[in-house]
Parts: sequence; structure tokens; C-alpha cells
Amino acid sequence: MKAEIIAVGTELLLGQIVNTNAQYIAQGCASIGLNVYYQTVVGDNRERIRQSFSLAASRADVIIATGGLGPTQDDLTKDALSELFGLPISIHGPSMEKITAVFQSRGIEMVKSNERQANVLEGCTPLANDNGLAVGVALTHEGTHYILLPGPPKEMKPMFDQYAVPWIRSVMGEEASPLYSKMLKFAGIGESSLEHRLIDLIDGQQDPTIAPYAKEGEVSIRLTTRACSEAEAERKLADTEREIRSRVGEYIYADRDVPIEYELVSMLIAAGRTVALAESCTGGLVSEMLTAVPGSSAAYRGGIVCYTNEAKKELLGVPAHVLEGEGAPGAISSETAILLAQNAMERTGADYALSVTGVAGPAESEGKPVGLVYLGVAERGKPAEAMKLQLSGNREAIRLKAAKQALYVLWQ
Ligand code: ATP
Ligand code: MG
Repeated sequence: MKAEIIAVGTELLLGQIVNTNAQYIAQGCASIGLNVYYQTVVGDNRERIRQSFSLAASRADVIIATGGLGPTQDDLTKDALSELFGLPISIHGPSMEKITAVFQSRGIEMVKSNERQANVLEGCTPLANDNGLAVGVALTHEGTHYILLPGPPKEMKPMFDQYAVPWIRSVMGEEASPLYSKMLKFAGIGESSLEHRLIDLIDGQQDPTIAPYAKEGEVSIRLTTRACSEAEAERKLADTEREIRSRVGEYIYADRDVPIEYELVSMLIAAGRTVALAESCTGGLVSEMLTAVPGSSAAYRGGIVCYTNEAKKELLGVPAHVLEGEGAPGAISSETAILLAQNAMERTGADYALSVTGVAGPAESEGKPVGLVYLGVAERGKPAEAMKLQLSGNREAIRLKAAKQALYVLWQ
């Protein structure tokens, strides 16, 4: 399919403004595989706008116009097209209601010309304008597809991306280049600090788009691009991925949609190593995650849920003076986390052990704040270590994050 862009506006012809809309639309067309053969600029003149559409229709399948949808007498795009096709103009009800409501809320009297912004061509698909008043138009007439968008870029761009592009893709059918996406999975970093470190990339994104989100204690980024071929998509995705890796690469544990426990189990099996667990505040959640992975018995030895201090003492040999009494580190401490991990490793004969002890909330414990969690990691032949985390969220979120973080610590 061939496309043509028509920018309407005398200011453009006079050189008072630069035709940035055409640039934006052209880039968008390229990204869906729609070839732009011509770009036209025409002034606010009914007859010449009509001629421009007529000429464009003779050489393009998709015609995208911007400008001239406003309320004033020099906003003529819809009228010109209506005349050219002999299609009557009608009022788009929802847009009219919106315009009336806006004037009412501002306490300004609405003049008749403002109604023009709710005009559409009969039989068209109206395109909502979420940042302004003039409704857009998508219309197929005698086999040619027309899109009319307003001139102000802050209105035009979101309308083009959200409404015009999907419509164009639908008329292009299989000719539209497919979407390609790639998932990057993160551990050891929260969604907000990840976003903070990529904010300029996320804000400036166009293609590929970068969408971070958090789900079930894990943070992911989905990169999506439109491309004409798989090779092109791979190149575009790889460029963005490289940029992301240069900033936060140490937190990426996979470049596909896989939970960290799957990665960890494969890694342990490949290395011929086993792990054991001692879980307090996660109450067996880490164990549940590991055993959900098929084949995990080759890597997961077993775990102990040592929820109370008694269980920590009796099942895992943490001395009472560490857990209780004046000046004792307490159950939620690096000392306890280390002993739990060390003893879980000894008692199960595993090569590694992980421990989790912390305050899942909703109330504090041992005078320690909600979200404070200590992870212990033991490895045969090395002194066990502890790591302190301060996690946010409700009880469920804290437990989930602590469990995922423990898996991540071992994966590292
Ligand atoms: P309005 O309701 O503001 O009148 P409109 O849809 O009628 O919107 P125009 O009157 O053609 O659009 O243009 C409004 C403003 O939008 C222009 O003054 C200019 O700032 C901007 N604009 C219009 N066309 C373009 C373009 N092709 N590139 C960049 N900016 C543009
Ligand atoms: Mg105008």
C-alpha cells in the first residue's frame, strides 16, 4: 500500500511553523510498513485542499491529513472532503456533548462555530481526541482510506498512535508489519528504581516501546517493535536492549518470560549442585516456588519452615542467646539468618542453603519495622553470609519479594 501525507495550514506555507506533524506521521507509517510516496502541504483554502485530496486519491491508498479541524472559518479540511465526495457532514454526538460540557465547566458561552469541531463525515469512524475538542475522522471511500487529524501536535500525536495506527493496520491487513516483542526479566531491583534509571529512555521511547511492569514479585520490561522483517525487529530490539543492559544489566536474569526459580533450578542441575532452605517469614513460599519447577528434585534437597523461635532453636540449632534476651540480635537479624542457612546446609547435606527471616507485617516485630528482611546464604567450604533488605508493600508483597530475592541471591 502507498500512503500520502497532507499537511493543511497557511502558516506552513509561509514558513511560520515547521511541518513536524508530517515527520511524525511518516515515521509512524514506516514502522508499520506503510510506504509514504508523497507529502503535500496546502494552505487553508477550500478549493486547493479539495484538489490536494483529489490528486492524492489518484496515487495513494492511504491518505493522512493534519490541520484544519478547528472551529474557525479557515478550518476547512472536513468541508473540503465532504464536497469532494458529496458526503454530508453530520454531528458526532459524544464529541458534541464533550464540547458543550467543556464550555459549561469553563463558564464560557459556546458560539455556534465551536460545534464544527464535532463534525464528522457520514459513515466514517470518528477518532477520539483526548487532548482537544476536534474529533478526527477515519473513512474509506471508493477503496481509498482517509484519516483526518487535528493540527496541534499534542492532539495529533496521541490520536495517531492510539486510534489512527490501529485503524490503518486493520485496513492494511497482512500488509501491516507484525509486532515483535521481547521480555527482559529483572531481580534484585524494584520497579520504581528500575524506572528511575531508565526514565529518559522510557519517556523518549517511540520504537521499540519500553513497558516496565511488576507482577508476582518480579519486575519485567517488555520491548515491542513493529518491523518489516524478523531481522529488522531483532536489530531494533537488540539496540534498545543493549542500552538497557548498559545501565541495569546486572539485574537482568533472563531475556525471555521465565520465573527466576526456573533459571535457578536449571543452573543448579547444570552445575550438579543442590540447595536447602530455612524459611521463617516466607513460611515455605521459596520451597513452593522451587518445587513448582519440574525436575527440581535434582537440585532442591528440602527445606525447614522454622516460623517460631522454638522451631529455630529445636529444628535448626539457633542458640537461645542469639534469639532472645537483653541485647540479643533477635530472630530478625543477620546472625540468625547466617545460622539458619549454615545449619540447614549441614543438616540436609546440600551444597548451598538459603534462609529468610524478617517482618512481613502488618505489625512490627522485635521493635523492627515491617519489610525488614534478612537473607542468609551458605555455600559449602565458605563462611555463610547475610544480606539485609528493606522491602515495601503489604504482607503478601513483602513475602513474595523476599522469596524472589532469596532465589536471586543464589542465582547470582
Ligand atoms: P485548532 O483547533 O488549533 O485550530 P486545527 O486542527 O484547525 O486546530 P490548525 O489550525 O491547522 O489545526 O493548526 C493549529 C496549530 O497546530 C498551528 O498553529 C500549529 O501550531 C500546529 N500545527 C498545525 N499543523 C502543523 C504541522 N503540520 N506541524 C506542526 N505543527 C502544526
Ligand atoms: Mg485551526
